Amino acid sequence: MSSRSLDDLLPDVAVKAKAFIASCQAAGIQTVVACTYRTDAEQTTLYAQGRTAPGPIVTDARAGQSLHNVRRALDVYPLVNGKLCGLSTQAERDLWEKLGQLGEAAGFEWAGRWVHFREYPHFQIKG
Ligand SMILES: [Zn+2]
Repeated sequence: MSSRSLDDLLPDVAVKAKAFIASCQAAGIQTVVACTYRTDAEQTTLYAQGRTAPGPIVTDARAGQSLHNVRRALDVYPLVNGKLCGLSTQAERDLWEKLGQLGEAAGFEWAGRWVHFREYPHFQIKG
């Protein structure tokens, strides 16, 4: 099972997540939260995808290794004309960069800066 509710994050993380989403709105960026808390079982299913199950690889984290499993991470997508923002045009990449900067300003580590397995929608706060 996985949740999209900010209230399923740890309380201190939820406060920062709400401030992050509010700052996006203030900047005129529409967003959708795709995932907050994810159970270990769901993480195992996700890790199998692209390895022992069909589909593309979407995560590098096994159960217990993702900060989603401990309520410290959320996945956020900017919306363009009501659709999830892609990465194919410069305008789309600029929008992701702006989202990333707003997340960082709210106190999150942005996985869009990771060199290994970069994940543009992923924002986290380590314990
Ligand atoms: Zn994530």
